Amino acid sequence: MANLLNVDQALEQILNNFDRLASETSDILDALGRVIADDIVAETNVPPFPNSSMDGFAVRAQDIQVATQDKPTSLKITMDIPAGTSPSGVLKPGEAARIMTGAPMPEGADSVLPVEDTDAKWTPGDNSLLPEQVAVFRSIKTGDYVRPLGEDIRVGQKIISAGTVLRAEEIGVLAVLGRPRVFVTRQPRIAILSTGDELIEIDAPSQSGKIRDSNSYALAALVTTYGGIPLRIPIARDTIADVRGRFREALNQKPDIILSSAGVSVGAFDVVRTVIDELGEVDFWRINLRPGKPLAFGQVGGIPFFGLPGNPVSAMVTFDIFVRPALLRLGGRADNARITSAIIAEDLRSDGRRSYLRVRLSRENGHLVAHLTGTQSSGALTSMATADGLLIVPEDVTHAAAGTEFNVRLLRDIQ
Ligand code: AMP
Ligand code: MG
Repeated sequence: MANLLNVDQALEQILNNFDRLASETSDILDALGRVIADDIVAETNVPPFPNSSMDGFAVRAQDIQVATQDKPTSLKITMDIPAGTSPSGVLKPGEAARIMTGAPMPEGADSVLPVEDTDAKWTPGDNSLLPEQVAVFRSIKTGDYVRPLGEDIRVGQKIISAGTVLRAEEIGVLAVLGRPRVFVTRQPRIAILSTGDELIEIDAPSQSGKIRDSNSYALAALVTTYGGIPLRIPIARDTIADVRGRFREALNQKPDIILSSAGVSVGAFDVVRTVIDELGEVDFWRINLRPGKPLAFGQVGGIPFFGLPGNPVSAMVTFDIFVRPALLRLGGRADNARITSAIIAEDLRSDGRRSYLRVRLSRENGHLVAHLTGTQSSGALTSMATADGLLIVPEDVTHAAAGTEFNVRLLRDIQ
């Protein structure tokens, strides 16, 4: 189609304007789901000393080589090493040290014999009765039940790479390395504007001719999903003064992106264009895309600006295609869109624009099959809510027979 901008070229042009944001410190408990900004290199060994992995006796393996149930070897108990203490001396030949799980190995000992393999008995918590001798019922190998120094982590080892999204697992590792705080990439702040005289707030009573503003909620949720902080600005009426005032409010929030929906198509009452021409520099694109042909991109007051179409489905789809990648880049996150392929259940027609059709997916005879979710009207939000994914019909396809395979951008996990 002539004069329509290609989706990929538009995205490339947009992404040139975004770089990863600076980092900030965060307590590790607040860092769950955040992107770590630096490599984490261990400055300590973990464990920091060789220690026992069992309750039992630290011994020299060679002292008990011939021990059996019938002919136990007797060792002299010379030390008691509870967890959290230091051994009081060096273990000599023929000696055993009572040792608890996690307690440091005494010098001279090379292995641990679990208490079950001896005649010793003790009541947990009672340290008073340390026998003088212990009879050992079996032999062991050097190193048995000993966790060597640095078994888990060695000094100098890179444990977490910059760019990793922190999970509970990484937060545990940071704790074991003694790091209560980490550098994380700052979360992008996204101001979200809705414009239109027909819009009323979510909790306003119904009024004739009016609809509820759903875009700012759906867009805010998308921003959160992709690691940003949404800043909702109250609805702007279709007057230059009101739209200008709302844009100023948005700018006052010092956002990283300003996102508006509606008012970028050519409508008699669209004042958004007038105001952004006054406050910034914005290109109005006609993109070879369905839904979402009109899209504005540029800067307003020096802040990157996206003007998304007003139709709720178009707003969400254009967010996914153009805003999400920019948001992820600002936040230092990799693009995580999951694409699969599916065959269409029925013949389909398209108008030659790249189309994102809402589909439900099912597994049939080993194939993933895509069914359109009823109406594909770009005003029908339920077509998004019921969809498992967006079937991507490439440019220049006008007709495809049932059974044709297409890529699908998954919107949720499927079985
Ligand atoms: P426009 O881009 O202003 O021509 O709007 C296109 C369609 O999107 C119209 O039907 C609007 O009523 C609808 N619309 C605009 N903004 C919103 C919004 N924030 N929430 C829900 N629908 C909207
Ligand atoms: Mg409008």
